[in-house]
Parts: sequence; structure tokens; C-alpha cells
Amino acid sequence: MQEVKTDLMIIGAGPGGLGAALYARRAGLSFEIVEKKIAGGQILNTEFIENYPGFKGNISGYEIAQNLVEHCRKFNIEVREYFAVDSIEIAGGRKKDKSYNFKCLGDERLIWTNAIIMATGANPDRLNVEGESELIGRGISFCATCDGTLYKDREVAVVGGGDTAIGEAIFLTKFARKVYIIHRRDELRAVEILKNRAFKNKKIKFLWSSVIEKFMGKDRLEEVLIRNKKEDKAYKLKVDGVFEYIGWKPNSELVKNLVKLDKKNFIITNSQMETSLPGIFAVGDVRNTPLRQVITAVADGAVAAMYADRFIYNLGH
Ligand code: NAP
Repeated sequence: MQEVKTDLMIIGAGPGGLGAALYARRAGLSFEIVEKKIAGGQILNTEFIENYPGFKGNISGYEIAQNLVEHCRKFNIEVREYFAVDSIEIAGGRKKDKSYNFKCLGDERLIWTNAIIMATGANPDRLNVEGESELIGRGISFCATCDGTLYKDREVAVVGGGDTAIGEAIFLTKFARKVYIIHRRDELRAVEILKNRAFKNKKIKFLWSSVIEKFMGKDRLEEVLIRNKKEDKAYKLKVDGVFEYIGWKPNSELVKNLVKLDKKNFIITNSQMETSLPGIFAVGDVRNTPLRQVITAVADGAVAAMYADRFIYNLGH
């Protein structure tokens, strides 16, 4: 097993992790940045990002991700991709014996580190209803950017009423003949600008106060059982695809026994990105942030790197 010693370990290379890496480099820290998949994070699958200040044209999520990676490379930061951390343990070291605070284990590598920034993001939540597990990837999707083109002139449904659901529903109207938005309430959560675009779009039909109770289909999705909660009536709707956008599940498993999590398992931090355990910081979508955006994730990364630097400096003094 290969052993590495470093000041800081950044886990996850989305905007939060890459932002932290840039600031850690400028602070002169030694660090490793690792990523389970490829560097860039969730925005790799986002068609357009319209609200990242400084980019007034339509820039794709993929381009922003590439820019972030290249910017890091300019400062000799290479993300170790396809590297999954399996466990994090407290190593027990503190300033007196100059040993390290944490042991991270993964992929035949043991990394001793003084501080950790968790930038592990979140994954899409699921409805958890009958037929769903069997039909994921066979009509049920969580990524319109990846699968939208498969539904040219077809009828699809989007579940959810937040920014993601409404934005992706509008995107799907480029391909699909009709897009149903199935929302459990009769009011959308999404921001005004997206709501107005959706209301004006003739291909979109809203099914208010409705939930999917069952997914049906032999080899692939054919129809869904919908219940209108206000009228308490269930009916079947034929659709070729369903895109679920009902929120996110944080990737906080690695530290669930080390730091405090909120009710939905997001990592609780203060404004300095410090968790309840000194030396572990969290940034971006995995933490209990009020806004999950590229701009907030990169800003979290900068703040975390600065306080990680102070934490590490204080260990030696
Ligand atoms: P979200 O804001 O949490 O919205 C989730 C939606 O799914 C809500 O409408 C919710 O209904 C619904 N929902 C949750 N659980 C459900 C269930 N079990 N069954 C049926 N419906 C369910 O998630 P999001 O839209 O992914 O957004 C996450 C964050 O990213 C937000 O901060 C958002 O602003 C941000 N974001 C921003 C942009 C942008 O600015 N362009 C784009 C995407 C995301 P209720 O409304 O009834 O709770």
C-alpha cells in the first residue's frame, strides 16, 4: 500500500473542491484533490448556466467545469480522478507529536492528512415507489442533458416543482412533443423567471397536486399511475420517459460518524465551513447551505481553504 502525507485532503472535484484547491495552492499548502468520477462535478450535466456572474452569454455547465479544471492545471493542480475514498479515521495526532490528524483510505492508498475538505456533493433523490428500481435507465432518468435527445417527438413527464425540474422541463421541450410537469402542490418552488418561461411554453402541461404512485411497463416504462391528491383520484398516464427532479441526497456517508449532520444528512457547518469536528470542513452541495449553486460552491471552497490553512498553521504553533 502506498502511503502519502499531506497538509490537506480535498475530497471531490466539483466547483467547491476545485475552488478550494485554487485557494489552497495560493496559501502554499501541500494537498491532494481526489474525485470519484471525473473532475467537474454535477455541472458537467447542466446544459446552460445563466446565473454565474461574469458569463453573460449562455455558457454550458461543461464549459465552466472545463475552465475550472484548466484554471487549476495552470497552477499545477492535478485532480486524481476515479479515486474513491473508502474511509476516514481520526488518527489521533496533534501538534505535540507532529503526527497527522486523519487517515484516509482508498484505492490501495493511505493518506495521512491534517485537514479534510469534504466537497462530495449530492446525488438526485428518488421517489421510491413501486416499479421505479426496475425501470431506472429504461424510461426513468435523472438527467435530461444526457437522455433528452432520446425523446424526440415523444411524451415525457418531469417530477418536481423546483428550479431543476422546471429548467429541465423547458430544456426537454426542445425534443419532446409534450412535457407534463407533475408537482405535489399547486404552487411551484422555482424562481419567477423559470416559472414564467414554463407557463408560456405551449408544450408544457402542469399536473398540479399530483404524485406518481407506480411506474409500469414490461421492458421499459410505458405508463405511470398518478394520484391527484386534491380530488383523491388515481389514473394512468402513458409516457415514454419520466425525469425525476425532487431534490438531492448529500454524499456525507464518509463522515457521518465523525461530524454533525442535519435531518436530511447534509453536513452542518458554520460560516467558516468548519464542521463539528476541528480539521474537517465541508463545502458546496454536501453542506447545509441555503443555496446550491456554482457561485456558492466555489465561494465555500475559497473560505474553507483559508480556514483550513489557519487550522493547519495553528497545529504547529
Ligand atoms: P428543490 O428546490 O429541493 O426542489 C425539489 C422539488 O421536488 C420541490 O418542488 C419539491 O416539492 C419536490 N419534491 C421533493 N420531494 C418530493 C417527493 N417525494 N415527491 C414529489 N415531489 C417531491 O431541488 P432542486 O430543484 O434540485 O434545487 C436544488 C437547489 O439547486 C436549489 O437551491 C435551487 O435553487 C438550485 N438550482 C438552481 C438552478 C438555477 O438557478 N438555474 C437550477 C437548478 C437548481 P415542494 O415544492 O412541495 O417541496
